[in-house]
Formats: sequence, structure tokens, C-alpha cells
Amino acid sequence: MNASTEKNTGDTVSEFTLPEGCMLCGGAVTIRSTPGGGAHSYCPHCHWLSRTRLRMHKGGLEIAYATKAFA
Ligand SMILES: [Zn+2]
Repeated sequence: MNASTEKNTGDTVSEFTLPEGCMLCGGAVTIRSTPGGGAHSYCPHCHWLSRTRLRMHKGGLEIAYATKAFA
């Protein structure tokens, strides 16, 4: 048997919580970024699920919600 073990350290999916990130209730939402530049946000309070796009800036992280255009 080979002594080396495989670990899932190469996972590119990251998940973090964004305080006051919910546009509906103002609660904390969970942001889960996926390989390919996409991301999903989920609010456990109001169950608001939305697609987001993450942009890295010098000052931090910008999250753009892929909301439908409000007329
Ligand atoms: Zn919410």
C-alpha cells in the first residue's frame, strides 16, 4: 500500500458569509463561489437564493447580484 493519502485540498469552491448581504431582509447571506467565476448567494433567513458574480478589487470583494432589471 502506498503511504500517501489523497486529500481534497484542491477544491476551488469557496464559501463564506457576507454580513448584511441580503437585499431583501438585510441579513447575512452565504456566498458560495464556484469554478468559472460564478457564485450563488443564499439567505437562511428569508431563503433568498440568487446568482452573483464576484469581483476582486484592491480594497476588497465586490459582489454583483444578477438580479433582473427593475423597470
Ligand atoms: Zn434575507
